[in-house]
Amino acid sequence: MANIIVLGSGFGALTTVRELRRQNVEADITVISPRDHLHYLPSTIWLPAGLRRGDKLKIPLADFFDSHRVHFIKASVVGLEDGGRTVVTDQGHYRNDHLVIAAGGRFIKKLPGIENALIPCDGIAVGEDYARRLESMDGGTIAFGFGSNPNEQSAVRGGPMFEFLFITDTLLRKQGRRDKFKLVFFNPSQKPGQRLGDKAVEKLLEEMKKRSIETHLGHKMVRFESDKVVTEGGEFAADLILFMPGLTGPAWLAAADLPLSPGGMIQADEKCRVPGRDGVWVVGDAGSYPGPDWLPKQAHQADLQALATARNIAAVLRGKTPDHNFKPELICIVDTLDKGILIYRSAKRNIMLPGSRLFHWMKRAFENHYLRAFR
Ligand SMILES: Cc1cc2nc3c(=O)[nH]c(=O)nc-3n(C[C@H](O)[C@H](O)[C@H](O)COP(=O)(O)OP(=O)(O)OC[C@H]3O[C@@H](n4cnc5c(N)ncnc54)[C@H](O)[C@@H]3O)c2cc1C
Repeated sequence: MANIIVLGSGFGALTTVRELRRQNVEADITVISPRDHLHYLPSTIWLPAGLRRGDKLKIPLADFFDSHRVHFIKASVVGLEDGGRTVVTDQGHYRNDHLVIAAGGRFIKKLPGIENALIPCDGIAVGEDYARRLESMDGGTIAFGFGSNPNEQSAVRGGPMFEFLFITDTLLRKQGRRDKFKLVFFNPSQKPGQRLGDKAVEKLLEEMKKRSIETHLGHKMVRFESDKVVTEGGEFAADLILFMPGLTGPAWLAAADLPLSPGGMIQADEKCRVPGRDGVWVVGDAGSYPGPDWLPKQAHQADLQALATARNIAAVLRGKTPDHNFKPELICIVDTLDKGILIYRSAKRNIMLPGSRLFHWMKRAFENHYLRAFR
């Protein structure tokens, strides 16, 4: 029987497993990850407002693994050998016939003084920390920003920072203490969030203006200090900094001998194959894919890549030619706590629908629907 190893237990990995079984693939499936829980990061934006609790966003996967006949190994990959046929982990070596790499990206923490900022992409604990610090502040300046990968501009995650910004504004207003705080949004681009489309950028900047959020745009970041943000275009005081750095590939790729993109991610084709490495596939944030310049690094896109990968592996195992290309698609609801701005992008359309309560509730309903599959 064929033996498939999936690296990671996040969005891309779990959707791959689910789709493999839906395709009636009878192979042995092994998931290797340091985590036996799914961490649902999209909802960490609601931690400061108390709309979610951290422990509720960690979904135990034992039942999911059981029902999908998955052998789980709690370990971290540290490298690959034999062109990917052997996975080297901190717990031992594992052979495979197909390898799906869904081990996520890594955030570039090179900016001097970055230890002075809270990095929300580091996970649930950081969202909880932000909630505590915001609660304990009597007033002051909070700065929100995101960076990119200078060698791969698409390796950026801006959406959640707009959400943390708008949600903080709404929350402080609800608490009757917005007048004690200055909120500043900073970004090296004059048009932050460009991949969402021109209309969306316009709407997001308009929303900041409406909410009296100051902006510091178009200046490269130089460093953070404990009480300020320094850019090439000047500096400004900040009592608290939230910052989402650009993405690159996992550190263990240094010991994997895989083709890498300029930004350090695993090179893939439109079928999620790693060129020149038979039976090695990549989905989600760990990969660099062909496609439009707005191709997002999103859970939704990771899921679409996972669907294509699982269907292609199923085809190969049946002796057929893999012919599933992943669909490039961006769906984003920028939540503001009481409303949501919907942004959609595909090869044919770029839609932006302004703030509506419906989209806030849609985001909550989607979380519920998505997590039901893993609970
Ligand atoms: C605050 C926040 C809000 C977000 N909101 C949204 C949103 O609203 N909508 C959306 O679509 N996307 C959102 N995203 C982005 C989304 O979370 C990511 O794009 C998505 O998690 C990528 O999925 P992935 O499977 O590639 O990687 P991940 O979900 O990061 O999973 C990687 C997995 O690999 C495991 N792993 C790590 N190191 C190793 C190792 N050495 N060996 C083996 N396994 C390893 C990890 O434990 C994890 O299980 C948000 C992200 C953040 C941070």
